[in-house]
Amino acid sequence: MTERARLFADRIYVFGTENAFKVGPHIARVESEGNKVVRLNLGEPDFDIPPFVRDEVKRQLDLGNTHYTDPKGILPLRKAIAKQMEEMRGLHVSPEQVVLFPGGKPSIGFTQEAYCNPGDEVIYPSPGFPIYESFPAYLGAKPVPLHLSEKENFTFTAQQLDKLITDKTRVIILNFPSNPTGGVATKQQLESIADVIKKRCRPDVRVYSDEIYEYIVFDGNKHISIASLPGMQERTIINSGFSKTFAWTGGRIGYAVFPTEEEANVFKNLNINYFSCIPPFTQEGARVALEHPESKAAVAKMVATFQQRRDVIVKKLNEIDGISCRMPGGAFYIFPNIAGVCRKVGAIDAFGKLPEDVQKRTSPSGLFQMFLLYRHHVATLDRSSFGRIGAEGQHYLRLSIASELGQLEEGVRRLAAASEDRAGFDNFMATLAREVI
Ligand code: PMP
Repeated sequence: MTERARLFADRIYVFGTENAFKVGPHIARVESEGNKVVRLNLGEPDFDIPPFVRDEVKRQLDLGNTHYTDPKGILPLRKAIAKQMEEMRGLHVSPEQVVLFPGGKPSIGFTQEAYCNPGDEVIYPSPGFPIYESFPAYLGAKPVPLHLSEKENFTFTAQQLDKLITDKTRVIILNFPSNPTGGVATKQQLESIADVIKKRCRPDVRVYSDEIYEYIVFDGNKHISIASLPGMQERTIINSGFSKTFAWTGGRIGYAVFPTEEEANVFKNLNINYFSCIPPFTQEGARVALEHPESKAAVAKMVATFQQRRDVIVKKLNEIDGISCRMPGGAFYIFPNIAGVCRKVGAIDAFGKLPEDVQKRTSPSGLFQMFLLYRHHVATLDRSSFGRIGAEGQHYLRLSIASELGQLEEGVRRLAAASEDRAGFDNFMATLAREVI
């Protein structure tokens, strides 16, 4: 640790981050040099919030609804969420088990904070949303990655989970449909996962089921929550929100449903300590989003658009030499295996020659990601942005399909050109890479 590093408490130096936010300055730099970047890095739908939600937020502002609310969230919204739990998952839930948060994100850290003592273990999917891996070390808990397998369509088997459970396991994070892979577990898989959890874990071990992409499921399939399987509701925290379903990432509103009111009240107290409450006009807008008769059609239209883009882009990616790409079952991400491209352009060799401290910051696919951005002007994220522990030797990119089809096709054309540009990659490594990696 350097002198400067001692400024902060130890936990700050082990806290991870979300690279989706860190890539912004690189894009700005490339664009400031006169290039137009195709942005396939974004984790937010390229749609507007439904007009009836926007109008309700405006109306509430005009009514002067701008004061503190119940830190758990306003009752009409919690009632609407309880109703949604019944309709979508067949679960009977009291509004007192529901807590609103500023987004789907806060309850990820709060859950680990609330249930884990130092030394306790958190099992989480990898590749997975990076915040899952950020928190265990920050809290002195142990991160235990559950590696998703491409062969299993980016899900995992009950046997894999079984091997990771110990008597120190406190929280098991699941995320279907998944970020960054789009993987969706089948009902049979969820049943065998639930069986392992019931057999191996004490009743107080919590499953944190991140279902933020619950509506973005393709091919006519319906979302299935592990909480709806027998004996699981009392062990499961369901996380969801409005950022993805209603294209409302800037609204900062999400929620979790807890197994008991007592647990929900602990999270209410975390809210009191951290944020007090969510803006009331946003909560009223969210209530309308759940209750408005046109909501379902608005969401279905967005999902159909994602599915159409997915079909076109996965096909085009598979036509590139060195890339193989699975068909995601949900969310709005595509996660091609680029091992062949990394070999072809020399990214694996180049990575091997980097000093150890630089290797810790990147990966072969990370080198290709930066080359693709700086030299071919396409922004993506690499495998290591979605969990680093045990991810060595895995070479993937995440492409978001939350851009219109023309942009996506242009992005894939540029990616194909980059995959053939070994000379350009060598030049990038010899020059700019030193500065930007
Ligand atoms: N969970 C997952 C799996 C996500 O992908 C995201 C957003 N990218 C979140 C939670 C957080 O969502 P929000 O913006 O509502 O905090």
